[in-house]
Order: sequence, then C-alpha cells, then structure tokens
Amino acid sequence: MKRNDFIKKTTLVITGGILTSYTSCIDPKKSKNVAGISERKNWAGNYRYKAENLYEPSSLEEVQQLVKQLDKQKALGSTHCFNDIADSPKDQISTKKLKKVVHLDTDNKTLTVEAGARYGDFAALLHEQGYALHNLASLPHISVAGACATATHGSGVGNGNLATQVLAVELVKPDGSVVHLDRAHPDFYAVVVGLGAFGIITKVTLAVEDTFDVRQDVFLDLPLESVVSNFDEIMSSGYSVSLFTDWMNKKVSEVWIKRRTDAEISDLGNDFYGAKAATKNIHPIADLSAENCTDQMGVPGPWYDRLPHFKMGFTPSAGKELQSEYFIPREYAVDALLTIEEMKDEIYPHIMISEIRSIAADNFWMSPCYKQDCITLHTTWKQKPKEVLALLPKIEAKLAPFNVKPHWGKLFTIDPLILQGRYEKHTDFVALAKAYDPTGKFRNGYLNKNIY
Ligand SMILES: Cc1cc2nc3c(=O)[nH]c(=O)nc-3n(C[C@H](O)[C@H](O)[C@H](O)COP(=O)(O)OP(=O)(O)OC[C@H]3O[C@@H](n4cnc5c(N)ncnc54)[C@H](O)[C@@H]3O)c2cc1C
Repeated sequence: MKRNDFIKKTTLVITGGILTSYTSCIDPKKSKNVAGISERKNWAGNYRYKAENLYEPSSLEEVQQLVKQLDKQKALGSTHCFNDIADSPKDQISTKKLKKVVHLDTDNKTLTVEAGARYGDFAALLHEQGYALHNLASLPHISVAGACATATHGSGVGNGNLATQVLAVELVKPDGSVVHLDRAHPDFYAVVVGLGAFGIITKVTLAVEDTFDVRQDVFLDLPLESVVSNFDEIMSSGYSVSLFTDWMNKKVSEVWIKRRTDAEISDLGNDFYGAKAATKNIHPIADLSAENCTDQMGVPGPWYDRLPHFKMGFTPSAGKELQSEYFIPREYAVDALLTIEEMKDEIYPHIMISEIRSIAADNFWMSPCYKQDCITLHTTWKQKPKEVLALLPKIEAKLAPFNVKPHWGKLFTIDPLILQGRYEKHTDFVALAKAYDPTGKFRNGYLNKNIY
C-alpha cells in the first residue's frame, strides 16, 4: 500500500469522530501482527493474510462503528488457524484489545469475557476465585470467540467442544447493530460456531463450575492391538484422554490420561494395556523438550494447568508446523485408525505426530460433532505444504466411508459439495448467514468456497 493510500484508509471520517482517534489501523507491510511476528501471517507462519488493513478496536462502540463503516471485513482472533478462514479481501478486525474479564457471576456460575480474551489470560484468575471451565484445548493461547467459531475442542468422551461452554454472546451484526443471543434464541446454535460469518462477537458468557484439580499420567508404547481390542475402555480411562502416534511400529507412542482428583480414581499401575508408565515429563513429540508441557507424573494441579498439553508462558506444540484434523463418528473409530495405519509409510516422512481424542455430541449446526459423538484424528505435520497438501486428499478418500469432517481451522481439501452434504444444517446455516449479512460483508474466499 502507498503511504498516501494508507493515510487515506486510516482517517475514514465517521459519525461522531475520526476513526483513527480511537482505533488503530495497522499497515500490514510495516507493522507487527497480533502474534508479534513481523509479517502479517498466522501463528504457524504458513499463511500470509491478504487483507489490506488490520484494525484493533478496544470497545464495543469502536467495533460497531468499524463494522458499519467498512465493507469487506472479518474478525481476527489469535491467528491460530492454519488456513484462510480468518482472512478478508479488504479489512480484518482484530479482537486483540478486547480481552477484559467483564463479570464473574457466582450466583449463576457464569463468566463473561470480551471475545478476544485468551483462555490462558483468565483461567488462573477464575481458579483463584474457585471456578473452572469444563475443558480446554491443547493450548491456552487461543481467543475464546475464535476458538468457539471453529468448534475447537479438547478431549474426553463426556466432554463437548469449547463452544458447549457458551451460554450467551454479544454480536455486532453487519449493519453495526448489537444483538444478544442466549441458548433460548433460535439463532444461537448457528452463530456461536459461526465461522465468522455473522459479524463480530464482542462478548462471550461461559458456564463455569466449581474448580477442580487434575492429575496427568502418561504411558509409553501402547500396542496397536490393545487399542483395537480396548478402544472404548482406553478412551474412557480418564476425564480427558489423548493417544499420540506416528503410526509406525504398530503402537501408540504416548497415552496421556488426565483425571479429575475430585472423582474416584484408582492407581493405574505401571502397565496400562501393555504400555509402561513414563518416568519423567514428556512432550507429545518425544524428541522435543517437555519444558513447554503441563506437568505429568500424576502430580495434581489446577484444571487450567493440566487440561491443555502446553503451558501458557511457552510456545505450544512444535511452532513451525502444519495441522490437519478429521472428525469421525465414534462407532467407526477403530476402523478409521486401522485405515490410516495402512498409510503409515506414506505419512511417516511428513509427520511430526498424530493425536487421537474424543469429543461428545453437541447442538451447534456447523460443529463436526453436531448430534454425533466423535473421535478426532489430528496430525501435526512438518511445514512442507506441497507434500502435506498432496497427502491430505488420499487420507480424506480413505476416511470418506466414515463421513469424515475436517476441523474448520486446519488444512483440508475435501470437495465443498461433499463437505456441505455431511452437514445436516448446512442449508439452514447459509440461509441464516445471508439473512444476517445480506451484502456479504463477512464473506471471504474460504466461506465462498466451502460454505456458500
Ligand atoms: C499449536 C496449535 C494447537 C491447536 N490445538 C487445538 C486443539 O487442541 N483443539 C482444536 O480443536 N483446535 C486446535 N487448534 C486450532 C485452533 O484452536 C483453532 O483454529 C481456533 O479457531 C483458533 O482461534 P483463533 O482465535 O486463533 O482464531 P482465528 O484463526 O483468529 O480465527 C478463526 C475464525 O474465528 C473467527 N473469529 C475470531 N474471532 C471472532 C469474533 N470475535 N467474532 C466472530 N468470529 C470470530 C474468524 O473470523 C475466523 O473465521 C490449534 C492450533 C494451533 C496453532
């Protein structure tokens, strides 16, 4: 962008003032983006945002004025998606400065936060006040509204995704007006896992519960045959269970079992279905240092410091990586695992690690777990986009008989028409999104391709 154009774009005159008097518009070529990287890229650095302008409003009123004033736009959370879902042909509105804890209502056990708050920003505070969220993703670094918009999840056969914590949202609609939606509102289950299609969520009210501690035990080298014979028992052996594997040598390299200490828990011993108890903290990618991982070895700790795999103060996962993740109805779990295991020699050169988790059914229209308990096959790949994007269609074809659905925020190549056909509420979702946004302000390349 030329300097003059930049100045012109940042001094849009709007009713009641000059936009730049309270809103920062950042020149993407010169500035740091919200993740602190010196280019406007997503967290993993594999996607460069094409939006010309990035705005960082710090109040509801600023968001309203921006939304009303701007044409093509999209909310940007903490930039952790691996694809173009958060991009815009023109403007992005970051929620980076909308991160306040608004209100903890102890009578009704609810917590209201601004949409850009990251779970790790307020989790310790919530715990200090005696409360907890039911679950977290593998990392606490993601924004609440951004995580919910893509149906981000943790693990646990009884645990729904993070959107299932949401009781209500405050939404700035494409015309700049504000609407409050709670679970009784007919649009609630479309808007919360809304892929950013309905406007900008500015506040989220979450259900909280009494705080609890969790202990995390890790077991190494679980034979594949044990997984096949005892899949349900293994995945139910804790409040949240993750299996990590590189698919080689007919084994799961690590089993992470997170158990609440307020539940009846037995000693798991040293032998877990043929896997041996780890003797020190370990990273999901065993060769990496466990320094950034939450404590294991059965040491109890608060929920927010055990349910994610990675600690807030450190870089999560591997950093320079790609991710894909596929949701599979739980009844096909073992068949799906064995299908992917057959591809191990093709997968191995490009994989860092895969993770298998469970997620309970929910009611969100565009959640991959809509009315369906699922397991997920997540893979952290080496950052080799060409090779990974060549492999994904093969994996997707193998998983097609299981009605596989991809994670909205990760890499996938499934044909949009096929994908849409796997969502019972897709047509209703499109109709509602069009009703909220008749001129398509919040449509971007991703939505045009995959949803509309
Ligand atoms: C290292 C790593 C680990 C991860 N682990 C997990 C995991 O354990 N489980 C899992 O399910 N996923 C995981 N993810 C994926 C990640 O949680 C999701 O992609 C999530 O959407 C990221 O949130 P964000 O705020 O960064 O979203 P962004 O990438 O910034 O935005 C995602 C979408 O949300 C929309 N959005 C953001 N804020 C708002 C708002 N205020 N109003 C309306 N729409 C909004 C955007 O427009 C966009 O469509 C991981 C990602 C990384 C990089």
